[in-house]
Amino acid sequence: MAPKLSLKDLSLKDKRVLMRVDFNVPLSKRGEITDDMRIQAALPSIRYVLDQGASLILMSHLGRPDGQPRTEFSLAPVAKRLSDLLAMPVLFAKDCVGPEVKQQASRLQPGQVLLLENLRFHAAEEHPKKDPDFARELAALGDLYVNDAFGTAHRAHASTAEIAQYFPGKSAAGFLMEKEIDFLGHVVLNPQRPFHAIIGGSKISSKLGIIKALLKKADAILIGGGMAYTFLKAKGKKIGDSLCENDLLEEATIILEQSDIAKVPIILPVDHIIAKEAVEGAAKKVCTTSEGIPEGYKGLDIGPETLAKFTKELQKAKTVFWNGPLGFFEVPEFAAGTYEIAKVLSSLPATTIIGGGDSVAAIKNTGLESKITHISTGGGASLEYIELGDLPGINVLSNKK
Ligand code: AMP
Repeated sequence: MAPKLSLKDLSLKDKRVLMRVDFNVPLSKRGEITDDMRIQAALPSIRYVLDQGASLILMSHLGRPDGQPRTEFSLAPVAKRLSDLLAMPVLFAKDCVGPEVKQQASRLQPGQVLLLENLRFHAAEEHPKKDPDFARELAALGDLYVNDAFGTAHRAHASTAEIAQYFPGKSAAGFLMEKEIDFLGHVVLNPQRPFHAIIGGSKISSKLGIIKALLKKADAILIGGGMAYTFLKAKGKKIGDSLCENDLLEEATIILEQSDIAKVPIILPVDHIIAKEAVEGAAKKVCTTSEGIPEGYKGLDIGPETLAKFTKELQKAKTVFWNGPLGFFEVPEFAAGTYEIAKVLSSLPATTIIGGGDSVAAIKNTGLESKITHISTGGGASLEYIELGDLPGINVLSNKK
């Protein structure tokens, strides 16, 4: 992929910058922001634009309002939090398109910020081809376009992909996007070897693409979590009542064969923490893969031998990529494997990259985030980027001159 234009390549003075950010923050039932990591992550680009003497129009989605204005998905609380973080007023537009917004945008002075209301209040955001005017109207608000929303770069939406055609030679990657391209695009796709990937989570079905891609890119793939049981069953092991995608047993067998051919070992758990139910206080015990998990029991975490084996493997690596918990980590009884792997990762001299989602939550809970080389802000986006080597929201940005 050709290098993309950077925010630093744009001449910003007195311009109106239209920036797609990922402000899709988690909200409590009372509508309070429970984690502002995504807002914080966009601050370097925001501050840079303002410091260069430009005005800034920010746009984002929040949740899944399904093309309807719904107050519980309003970005108004985000405008307030952003204003606190920047220690300056942040103007808020009640919609993202329309004459009122146009007027608000045209009145912006250098150094001012306007946050638009949730893009997904309009169906055309997610279905841009049905109403191309939507992207055109958004584009008309700014002189330059910046995309700093890596978390949605795998979606070909109006504000992430369609819009860039209106900014030829003027569509740039924000700093956060650049960092993701740098770590995922360069470090993971051109890794220092040995490169080991740890893939966990509930199902193979959602991670088939990445596992297949890693067979071409990694030196070993360590698999834990619920998805390990489909592989183990495919190998003829007894898995009791563990999570299993029976319709993917054949696919799992093919992947295991491909791993043999490619000489990229898929390393599966050799023991498990098992229990009858994944509930707090459940009686749990350790069971090895060779004994097999008895009927009535579920494999809910990797066992101590697996942890030791995975640790030994990871210590050989120069690059490690991790996505997905290694057990039912929401219940403390089955969280040890995930947290211990998080600790191992934080202690490695290797370049360590965590690809979004639950693994990020796990590393945060251990308080060891600062010891990880790069924590991606996009779960699905990071997996697709590694799989495909490109994303719609990155592809459309202008190439560097
Ligand atoms: P994913 O979204 O595919 O990354 O899956 C994350 C979910 O997988 C978490 O909610 C975990 O509780 C769940 N999970 C991980 N290991 C297991 C397991 N052994 N059995 C059932 N669910 C699991």
